[in-house]
Amino acid sequence: MLYRARTLVTMTTPPVTDGAVVVRGDSIAAACGWKEVRREFGSEDVVDLGERILLPGLINAHCHLDYSTMRNAIGPQRSFTEWIGRINALKRELDADDYLKAIAAGFREARRWGTTTILNIEAFPELLPRLPPPPLRTWWFYEMIDVRQRIVTDELLAGALAFFDERSDWLGGFGLSPHAPYTASAELYRLTRDCSRARGLPWTTHLCESADEDEMFRHARGPLHDFLKKLGRPMDDCGAGRSALETLTAAGALGPECIAVHLNALNEADFALLAPGGPLHGLSVVHCPLSHFFFGHPEFPLARLWELDVNLCLGTDSLASSPSLDLFPRLRALAATAASAGLALSARERLATVTLNPARALGLTGRLGSIQAGAWADLIALSDPGDAAGEAVYEAICENRTFVDWMLISGIPIA
Ligand SMILES: [Zn+2]
Repeated sequence: MLYRARTLVTMTTPPVTDGAVVVRGDSIAAACGWKEVRREFGSEDVVDLGERILLPGLINAHCHLDYSTMRNAIGPQRSFTEWIGRINALKRELDADDYLKAIAAGFREARRWGTTTILNIEAFPELLPRLPPPPLRTWWFYEMIDVRQRIVTDELLAGALAFFDERSDWLGGFGLSPHAPYTASAELYRLTRDCSRARGLPWTTHLCESADEDEMFRHARGPLHDFLKKLGRPMDDCGAGRSALETLTAAGALGPECIAVHLNALNEADFALLAPGGPLHGLSVVHCPLSHFFFGHPEFPLARLWELDVNLCLGTDSLASSPSLDLFPRLRALAATAASAGLALSARERLATVTLNPARALGLTGRLGSIQAGAWADLIALSDPGDAAGEAVYEAICENRTFVDWMLISGIPIA
Protein backbone atom coordinates (compact mmCIF):
# COMPACT_ATOMS: atom_id res chain seq x y z
CA MET A 1 0.00 0.00 0.00
CA LEU A 2 1.25 3.50 -0.88
CA TYR A 3 0.36 6.60 1.16
CA ARG A 4 0.89 9.92 -0.62
CA ALA A 5 0.73 13.39 0.95
CA ARG A 6 1.66 16.96 0.08
CA THR A 7 4.44 16.92 2.68
CA LEU A 8 6.26 13.97 4.22
CA VAL A 9 8.14 14.49 7.49
CA THR A 10 10.37 11.50 8.18
CA MET A 11 12.50 13.00 11.03
CA THR A 12 15.58 11.43 9.43
CA THR A 13 15.64 13.51 6.21
CA PRO A 14 14.53 17.08 5.37
CA PRO A 15 10.77 17.37 4.73
CA VAL A 16 9.81 15.92 1.34
CA THR A 17 7.32 17.84 -0.82
CA ASP A 18 4.88 15.48 -2.57
CA GLY A 19 6.10 12.49 -0.59
CA ALA A 20 4.96 8.91 -0.23
CA VAL A 21 5.38 5.98 2.15
CA VAL A 22 5.31 2.34 1.11
CA VAL A 23 3.84 0.07 3.80
CA ARG A 24 4.21 -3.71 3.80
CA GLY A 25 2.44 -5.51 6.63
CA ASP A 26 3.25 -3.75 9.90
CA SER A 27 6.36 -1.96 8.60
CA ILE A 28 7.57 0.70 6.23
CA ALA A 29 9.34 -0.53 3.08
CA ALA A 30 10.31 2.87 1.66
CA ALA A 31 9.68 6.60 2.17
CA CYS A 32 10.65 9.31 -0.33
CA GLY A 33 9.29 11.51 -3.13
CA TRP A 34 6.11 10.40 -4.90
CA LYS A 35 7.74 10.20 -8.35
CA GLU A 36 10.43 7.86 -7.06
CA VAL A 37 7.91 5.70 -5.23
CA ARG A 38 5.64 5.50 -8.26
CA ARG A 39 8.56 4.41 -10.44
CA GLU A 40 9.47 1.55 -8.13
CA PHE A 41 6.12 0.57 -6.56
CA GLY A 42 3.68 1.91 -9.20
CA SER A 43 1.53 -1.21 -9.31
CA GLU A 44 0.42 -0.96 -5.65
CA ASP A 45 -2.80 0.60 -4.33
CA VAL A 46 -2.57 4.28 -3.42
CA VAL A 47 -4.21 6.23 -0.59
CA ASP A 48 -3.87 9.93 -1.45
CA LEU A 49 -3.97 12.01 1.76
CA GLY A 50 -4.04 15.22 -0.28
CA GLU A 51 -2.89 18.52 1.21
CA ARG A 52 -1.79 17.00 4.49
CA ILE A 53 1.47 16.54 6.38
CA LEU A 54 2.35 12.88 6.91
CA LEU A 55 4.58 12.29 9.93
CA PRO A 56 5.48 9.63 12.52
CA GLY A 57 2.82 8.98 15.17
CA LEU A 58 3.62 10.81 18.41
CA ILE A 59 5.06 9.13 21.50
CA ASN A 60 3.90 10.15 24.97
CA ALA A 61 6.86 9.29 27.20
CA HIS A 62 5.01 9.54 30.52
CA CYS A 63 1.40 8.93 31.38
CA HIS A 64 -0.82 7.28 34.00
CA LEU A 65 -3.88 6.07 32.07
CA ASP A 66 -5.34 4.76 35.35
CA TYR A 67 -6.24 8.33 36.35
CA SER A 68 -7.91 9.42 33.09
CA THR A 69 -11.22 10.08 34.84
CA MET A 70 -9.64 12.52 37.32
CA ARG A 71 -9.52 15.60 35.09
CA ASN A 72 -10.01 18.72 37.29
CA ALA A 73 -10.79 16.44 40.27
CA ILE A 74 -7.98 17.92 42.36
CA GLY A 75 -7.21 21.64 42.38
CA PRO A 76 -3.68 22.91 42.96
CA GLN A 77 -2.71 22.18 46.58
CA ARG A 78 -0.38 24.05 48.89
CA SER A 79 2.29 21.41 48.48
CA PHE A 80 3.11 18.33 46.41
CA THR A 81 2.66 16.26 49.57
CA GLU A 82 -0.91 17.52 50.02
CA TRP A 83 -1.66 16.59 46.42
CA ILE A 84 -0.39 13.04 47.07
CA GLY A 85 -2.78 12.84 50.03
CA ARG A 86 -5.70 14.00 47.82
CA ILE A 87 -5.02 11.57 44.98
CA ASN A 88 -4.59 8.69 47.43
CA ALA A 89 -8.04 9.52 48.89
CA LEU A 90 -9.55 9.67 45.38
CA LYS A 91 -7.96 6.33 44.45
CA ARG A 92 -9.64 4.67 47.41
CA GLU A 93 -13.06 5.69 46.01
CA LEU A 94 -12.50 3.89 42.70
CA ASP A 95 -12.77 0.20 41.90
CA ALA A 96 -11.34 -2.00 39.16
CA ASP A 97 -14.16 -1.22 36.72
CA ASP A 98 -13.57 2.51 37.17
CA TYR A 99 -9.90 2.08 36.35
CA LEU A 100 -10.63 -0.04 33.27
CA LYS A 101 -12.99 2.70 32.03
CA ALA A 102 -10.32 5.30 32.76
CA ILE A 103 -7.70 3.42 30.75
CA ALA A 104 -10.08 3.12 27.77
CA ALA A 105 -10.97 6.83 28.00
CA GLY A 106 -7.29 7.74 28.14
CA PHE A 107 -6.54 5.72 25.01
CA ARG A 108 -9.42 7.43 23.16
CA GLU A 109 -8.18 10.90 24.08
CA ALA A 110 -4.54 10.19 23.27
CA ARG A 111 -5.48 8.75 19.88
CA ARG A 112 -7.59 11.79 19.00
CA TRP A 113 -4.45 13.90 19.31
CA GLY A 114 -2.18 11.76 17.18
CA THR A 115 -0.44 9.71 19.87
CA THR A 116 0.35 6.23 18.61
CA THR A 117 2.70 5.13 21.43
CA ILE A 118 2.37 5.59 25.19
CA LEU A 119 4.77 4.82 28.00
CA ASN A 120 2.20 4.13 30.70
CA ILE A 121 2.82 3.67 34.41
CA GLU A 122 0.50 0.91 35.60
CA ALA A 123 -0.26 1.13 39.30
CA PHE A 124 -2.72 -1.79 39.15
CA PRO A 125 -1.08 -4.51 37.07
CA GLU A 126 -3.74 -6.90 38.37
CA LEU A 127 -6.11 -5.12 35.95
CA LEU A 128 -4.12 -6.14 32.89
CA PRO A 129 -5.66 -9.63 32.50
CA ARG A 130 -9.05 -7.90 32.10
CA LEU A 131 -7.86 -5.51 29.42
CA PRO A 132 -8.26 -6.15 25.71
CA PRO A 133 -5.07 -5.77 23.64
CA PRO A 134 -4.27 -2.04 23.72
CA PRO A 135 -5.40 0.05 20.72
CA LEU A 136 -2.14 2.03 20.77
CA ARG A 137 1.43 0.78 21.00
CA THR A 138 1.81 0.76 24.77
CA TRP A 139 4.59 0.04 27.18
CA TRP A 140 3.11 -0.96 30.54
CA PHE A 141 5.51 -0.11 33.33
CA TYR A 142 4.72 -2.08 36.45
CA GLU A 143 4.75 0.46 39.27
CA MET A 144 6.41 -0.72 42.47
CA ILE A 145 6.37 0.78 45.95
CA ASP A 146 8.02 -0.64 49.08
CA VAL A 147 7.63 2.15 51.62
CA ARG A 148 6.92 -0.07 54.59
CA GLN A 149 7.65 -3.59 53.51
CA ARG A 150 11.07 -3.96 52.00
CA ILE A 151 10.58 -7.51 50.90
CA VAL A 152 10.68 -7.16 47.14
CA THR A 153 12.84 -9.90 45.74
CA ASP A 154 13.94 -10.84 42.29
CA GLU A 155 11.45 -13.76 42.45
CA LEU A 156 8.64 -11.24 42.91
CA LEU A 157 9.86 -9.25 39.91
CA ALA A 158 10.20 -12.41 37.87
CA GLY A 159 6.60 -13.30 38.75
CA ALA A 160 5.34 -9.93 37.49
CA LEU A 161 7.33 -10.25 34.32
CA ALA A 162 6.06 -13.77 33.67
CA PHE A 163 2.62 -12.22 33.23
CA PHE A 164 4.04 -9.85 30.65
CA ASP A 165 5.74 -12.68 28.78
CA GLU A 166 2.34 -14.26 28.14
CA ARG A 167 1.20 -11.17 26.29
CA SER A 168 3.92 -11.00 23.69
CA ASP A 169 1.27 -10.39 21.01
CA TRP A 170 0.32 -7.02 22.50
CA LEU A 171 1.53 -3.95 20.59
CA GLY A 172 4.33 -2.40 22.62
CA GLY A 173 5.86 -4.07 25.63
CA PHE A 174 6.45 -4.10 29.33
CA GLY A 175 8.87 -2.67 31.81
CA LEU A 176 9.39 -1.87 35.47
CA SER A 177 8.91 1.33 37.40
CA PRO A 178 10.01 1.88 40.99
CA HIS A 179 7.58 4.74 41.75
CA ALA A 180 10.00 7.35 43.16
CA PRO A 181 13.00 7.50 45.51
CA TYR A 182 10.73 8.47 48.41
CA THR A 183 8.44 5.43 47.96
CA ALA A 184 10.89 2.84 46.59
CA SER A 185 14.09 1.72 48.31
CA ALA A 186 17.54 1.81 46.73
CA GLU A 187 17.45 -1.98 46.93
CA LEU A 188 14.28 -2.06 44.82
CA TYR A 189 15.96 0.26 42.31
CA ARG A 190 18.99 -2.06 42.16
CA LEU A 191 16.78 -5.11 41.60
CA THR A 192 14.86 -3.26 38.89
CA ARG A 193 18.06 -2.26 37.17
CA ASP A 194 19.55 -5.77 37.27
CA CYS A 195 16.34 -7.43 36.17
CA SER A 196 15.78 -4.93 33.33
CA ARG A 197 19.33 -5.34 32.09
CA ALA A 198 19.14 -9.13 32.21
CA ARG A 199 15.87 -9.15 30.26
CA GLY A 200 16.56 -6.21 27.95
CA LEU A 201 13.56 -4.27 29.29
CA PRO A 202 13.13 -0.50 29.64
CA TRP A 203 12.59 0.96 33.08
CA THR A 204 11.38 4.32 34.27
CA THR A 205 10.92 6.27 37.49
CA HIS A 206 9.85 9.65 38.88
CA LEU A 207 12.95 11.51 40.04
CA CYS A 208 13.72 14.89 41.65
CA GLU A 209 10.22 16.14 40.91
CA SER A 210 9.36 18.52 43.73
CA ALA A 211 10.84 20.92 46.26
CA ASP A 212 9.35 18.64 48.96
CA GLU A 213 11.32 15.65 47.67
CA ASP A 214 14.50 17.73 47.49
CA GLU A 215 14.06 18.98 51.04
CA MET A 216 13.39 15.46 52.30
CA PHE A 217 16.53 13.93 50.78
CA ARG A 218 18.88 16.83 51.33
CA HIS A 219 17.83 17.98 54.78
CA ALA A 220 15.60 15.26 56.29
CA ARG A 221 12.75 17.68 56.83
CA GLY A 222 9.66 19.15 55.21
CA PRO A 223 6.12 17.90 54.52
CA LEU A 224 7.05 14.86 52.42
CA HIS A 225 9.65 13.78 54.97
CA ASP A 226 7.17 14.06 57.86
CA PHE A 227 4.39 12.31 55.91
CA LEU A 228 6.57 9.33 54.99
CA LYS A 229 8.20 9.07 58.39
CA LYS A 230 4.71 8.74 59.88
CA LEU A 231 3.99 5.96 57.40
CA GLY A 232 7.00 4.07 58.73
CA ARG A 233 9.46 4.65 55.88
CA PRO A 234 13.08 4.25 57.10
CA MET A 235 14.53 7.76 56.67
CA ASP A 236 18.22 6.89 57.02
CA ASP A 237 18.90 7.82 53.37
CA CYS A 238 17.93 11.45 54.05
CA GLY A 239 19.77 14.40 55.58
CA ALA A 240 23.24 14.01 54.07
CA GLY A 241 22.86 17.11 51.86
CA ARG A 242 22.41 14.96 48.76
CA SER A 243 19.58 14.91 46.22
CA ALA A 244 17.66 11.74 45.39
CA LEU A 245 19.63 11.51 42.13
CA GLU A 246 22.96 11.64 44.01
CA THR A 247 21.71 9.25 46.68
CA LEU A 248 20.56 6.58 44.23
CA THR A 249 23.64 6.95 42.02
CA ALA A 250 25.93 6.58 45.03
CA ALA A 251 23.99 3.42 45.96
CA GLY A 252 24.69 1.98 42.49
CA ALA A 253 20.95 1.98 41.79
CA LEU A 254 20.74 4.28 38.75
CA GLY A 255 22.18 4.04 35.26
CA PRO A 256 21.97 5.99 31.99
CA GLU A 257 19.47 3.50 30.56
CA CYS A 258 16.82 4.68 33.04
CA ILE A 259 13.97 6.80 31.64
CA ALA A 260 13.95 9.50 34.33
CA VAL A 261 10.76 11.51 34.65
CA HIS A 262 10.82 15.16 35.83
CA LEU A 263 14.33 16.11 37.09
CA ASN A 264 13.09 19.55 38.12
CA ALA A 265 15.02 20.09 41.33
CA LEU A 266 18.73 19.61 40.51
CA ASN A 267 21.95 21.08 41.85
CA GLU A 268 25.55 21.27 40.58
CA ALA A 269 26.42 17.80 41.89
CA ASP A 270 23.50 16.37 39.88
CA PHE A 271 24.61 18.16 36.73
CA ALA A 272 28.11 16.69 37.21
CA LEU A 273 26.60 13.17 37.22
CA LEU A 274 24.83 13.97 33.92
CA ALA A 275 27.88 15.58 32.26
CA PRO A 276 30.10 13.82 29.67
CA GLY A 277 32.17 11.22 31.52
CA GLY A 278 29.64 11.12 34.39
CA PRO A 279 27.79 7.90 35.31
CA LEU A 280 24.44 9.23 34.02
CA HIS A 281 25.59 10.85 30.78
CA GLY A 282 23.04 10.34 28.00
CA LEU A 283 20.17 9.78 30.45
CA SER A 284 16.66 10.01 29.00
CA VAL A 285 14.76 12.79 30.78
CA VAL A 286 10.99 13.15 30.44
CA HIS A 287 9.61 16.64 30.97
CA CYS A 288 5.85 17.05 31.55
CA PRO A 289 5.37 20.80 31.01
CA LEU A 290 1.67 21.22 31.86
CA SER A 291 1.82 19.01 34.94
CA HIS A 292 4.91 21.01 35.91
CA PHE A 293 2.93 24.28 35.72
CA PHE A 294 0.03 22.72 37.66
CA PHE A 295 2.27 21.89 40.61
CA GLY A 296 4.42 25.01 40.39
CA HIS A 297 7.53 22.85 40.66
CA PRO A 298 11.05 24.33 40.73
CA GLU A 299 11.92 25.68 37.28
CA PHE A 300 12.80 22.88 34.85
CA PRO A 301 16.54 23.34 34.09
CA LEU A 302 16.07 22.95 30.34
CA ALA A 303 19.11 24.96 29.20
CA ARG A 304 21.50 23.11 31.53
CA LEU A 305 20.15 19.68 30.63
CA TRP A 306 20.21 20.49 26.92
CA GLU A 307 23.83 21.59 27.19
CA LEU A 308 24.66 18.25 28.88
CA ASP A 309 23.09 16.38 25.96
CA VAL A 310 20.38 14.51 27.84
CA ASN A 311 17.90 12.63 25.67
CA LEU A 312 14.94 14.98 26.19
CA CYS A 313 11.43 13.53 25.83
CA LEU A 314 7.97 14.96 26.58
CA GLY A 315 5.10 13.42 28.51
CA THR A 316 1.63 14.47 29.53
CA ASP A 317 1.59 12.95 33.03
CA SER A 318 -1.92 11.99 34.16
CA LEU A 319 -5.20 13.88 33.85
CA ALA A 320 -5.14 14.24 37.65
CA SER A 321 -2.44 16.91 37.23
CA SER A 322 -2.84 18.14 33.66
CA PRO A 323 -5.67 19.27 31.36
CA SER A 324 -5.35 16.82 28.44
CA LEU A 325 -3.46 13.92 26.91
CA ASP A 326 -2.62 16.11 23.88
CA LEU A 327 1.12 16.43 23.18
CA PHE A 328 0.82 19.47 20.85
CA PRO A 329 0.33 22.04 23.68
CA ARG A 330 3.35 20.45 25.38
CA LEU A 331 5.43 21.14 22.25
CA ARG A 332 4.34 24.78 22.45
CA ALA A 333 5.01 24.95 26.21
CA LEU A 334 8.51 23.61 25.56
CA ALA A 335 9.08 26.49 23.11
CA ALA A 336 8.03 28.96 25.80
CA THR A 337 10.31 27.35 28.41
CA ALA A 338 13.22 27.38 25.96
CA ALA A 339 12.60 31.03 25.06
CA SER A 340 12.55 32.12 28.70
CA ALA A 341 15.79 30.19 29.29
CA GLY A 342 17.40 31.92 26.28
CA LEU A 343 17.75 28.57 24.50
CA ALA A 344 17.28 28.38 20.75
CA LEU A 345 15.35 25.14 20.29
CA SER A 346 14.16 24.58 16.72
CA ALA A 347 10.69 23.23 16.01
CA ARG A 348 12.36 20.12 14.58
CA GLU A 349 14.28 19.60 17.84
CA ARG A 350 11.02 19.96 19.75
CA LEU A 351 9.22 17.47 17.51
CA ALA A 352 12.08 15.02 18.16
CA THR A 353 11.10 15.01 21.86
CA VAL A 354 7.87 13.19 20.93
CA THR A 355 9.32 11.02 18.12
CA LEU A 356 13.03 10.21 17.77
CA ASN A 357 14.04 10.79 21.40
CA PRO A 358 11.49 8.58 23.18
CA ALA A 359 12.17 5.89 20.56
CA ARG A 360 15.83 6.08 21.57
CA ALA A 361 14.84 5.93 25.25
CA LEU A 362 13.11 2.60 24.52
CA GLY A 363 16.12 1.36 22.55
CA LEU A 364 14.04 1.38 19.35
CA THR A 365 15.79 3.88 17.11
CA GLY A 366 14.98 3.01 13.51
CA ARG A 367 11.85 1.02 14.48
CA LEU A 368 9.83 3.74 16.17
CA GLY A 369 9.54 7.54 15.98
CA SER A 370 10.67 7.95 12.38
CA ILE A 371 9.50 7.15 8.87
CA GLN A 372 12.13 5.01 7.21
CA ALA A 373 12.53 1.56 5.72
CA GLY A 374 12.33 -1.01 8.51
CA ALA A 375 10.35 1.16 10.95
CA TRP A 376 6.90 0.14 12.19
CA ALA A 377 4.18 1.79 10.13
CA ASP A 378 2.86 4.16 12.83
CA LEU A 379 1.86 7.29 10.89
CA ILE A 380 -0.41 10.28 11.35
CA ALA A 381 -1.60 12.96 8.90
CA LEU A 382 -2.32 16.59 9.86
CA SER A 383 -4.15 19.19 7.86
CA ASP A 384 -2.11 22.35 7.39
CA PRO A 385 -4.15 25.39 6.43
CA GLY A 386 -0.94 27.47 6.36
CA ASP A 387 0.59 25.59 3.42
CA ALA A 388 4.03 25.45 5.12
CA ALA A 389 7.12 24.24 3.29
CA GLY A 390 10.71 23.36 4.26
CA GLU A 391 11.68 23.85 7.92
CA ALA A 392 8.43 25.79 8.53
CA VAL A 393 6.61 22.45 8.35
CA TYR A 394 7.95 21.52 11.81
CA GLU A 395 6.53 24.74 13.23
CA ALA A 396 3.18 24.06 11.55
CA ILE A 397 3.10 20.61 13.19
CA CYS A 398 3.83 22.02 16.67
CA GLU A 399 1.01 24.55 16.12
CA ASN A 400 -1.61 21.89 15.40
CA ARG A 401 -4.83 22.50 17.35
CA THR A 402 -7.23 20.10 15.64
CA PHE A 403 -8.00 16.43 16.14
CA VAL A 404 -5.93 14.01 14.11
CA ASP A 405 -8.42 12.29 11.81
CA TRP A 406 -6.06 9.88 10.05
CA MET A 407 -3.74 7.40 11.68
CA LEU A 408 -2.01 4.14 10.89
CA ILE A 409 -0.75 1.89 13.68
CA SER A 410 1.35 -1.12 12.81
CA GLY A 411 0.18 -0.73 9.21
CA ILE A 412 -3.53 -0.79 10.12
CA PRO A 413 -5.70 2.31 9.50
CA ILE A 414 -7.47 3.50 12.67
CA ALA A 415 -10.87 5.06 12.17
ZN1 LIG B 1 3.93 10.52 36.78
